[in-house]
Amino acid sequence: MQFIDLAAQQKKIRAKIEANINKVLDHGRYIMGPEIKELEEKLAAYVGVDYAVGVASGTDALLMSLMAYEIGEGDAVLTTPFTFIATGEVIRLLGATPVFVDIDPDTYNIDPVEIENALEKIRSENELTPRCIIPVDLFGQAADYDEINAIAEKHGLYVIGDAAQSFGASYKGKKAGSLTEITATSFFPAKPLGAYGDGGMVFTRSAKLYEKLSSIRVHGQGSDKYNNIRVGINGRLDSLQAAVLLAKLEIFDEEVELRQEKANRYSAALKDHLKVPFVRDYNVSAWAQYSLLHPQRDAVIAKLKEKGIPTAIYYPKPLHLQDAFSDLHGKEGDFPVSERTAAEIFSIPMHPYLTAEDQERIVQAITDGVRTL
Ligand SMILES: *Cc1c(COP(=O)(O)O)cnc(C)c1O
Repeated sequence: MQFIDLAAQQKKIRAKIEANINKVLDHGRYIMGPEIKELEEKLAAYVGVDYAVGVASGTDALLMSLMAYEIGEGDAVLTTPFTFIATGEVIRLLGATPVFVDIDPDTYNIDPVEIENALEKIRSENELTPRCIIPVDLFGQAADYDEINAIAEKHGLYVIGDAAQSFGASYKGKKAGSLTEITATSFFPAKPLGAYGDGGMVFTRSAKLYEKLSSIRVHGQGSDKYNNIRVGINGRLDSLQAAVLLAKLEIFDEEVELRQEKANRYSAALKDHLKVPFVRDYNVSAWAQYSLLHPQRDAVIAKLKEKGIPTAIYYPKPLHLQDAFSDLHGKEGDFPVSERTAAEIFSIPMHPYLTAEDQERIVQAITDGVRTL
């Protein structure tokens, strides 16, 4: 059994993927070929914004978004400690300071009430200027953008959505990617819309930010290639990856629905045995992960392993306890909800091609495992 079965998906659309790849081989424009614009236009329309910028990874998408807002030294960027390292790493890379904010115990997303508390603390310490909030749509469910955007507006902050796990999700009828002025997503192969390598995209409603991001993507390019008006990066998406994504996009909506079906089946069978995912009634998750909580998590996953069922832990160590951020002096107890969640959470196989038999086996193993602890 596979944790994510990319081969099943490939089998279904192999001919289309090969045809799209062959087109790139024929035209030979490996860098910024026509597939890039086509994908940007299709995905911008899909999420419902005017502009999209294809980039080299989700990490670059976040980094470039912060660069577009000119975030740097002395700036505080508020984010969740219960996320992938990239969310915090890009803040540090630019010399800014991540200020962590604990999560909601039900959705695992940043807790808006705690954002207000953190802002007050930053103000009272008077060392950093709060500039930006990066909510993360963990496991595929959008963060509470109405609340977060209102706080940001009140305090004059930017909001960058980390939608690396939520492409395809929606919040109050609007698609992830359209919920803030600027949103970053990832096409890492295991994400809901995954390429065959690294890739990402930035979505924005702002023509000005679009211009800036396009320049940052190509070394801060100005009116021509050898006129550089700002410090940028090489942040381009490959034509080949865009070609793969265009093929996968054709079945994407169907896949989001299939994931929802699998999630429903899991939740119905597991909800009386351990804590299943909680999705707010106005949210539709993209189900990047299906994650469960159990106080004896390690014992449960050991039992699953015995039966050949793969699991993963997203994330075993919150960012404030990572050595990479030791200079921020985070310590145990700082973010109790994140720490408790990190100690109890585990994810089980989730992808559109899970069979009913596999799901039954997984459910049986979990319920047996939990009962015999
Ligand atoms: C995957 C991920 C990223 C980084 O994306 P890459 O494409 O791997 O660079 C950032 N944030 C979150 C929450 C992610 O899950």
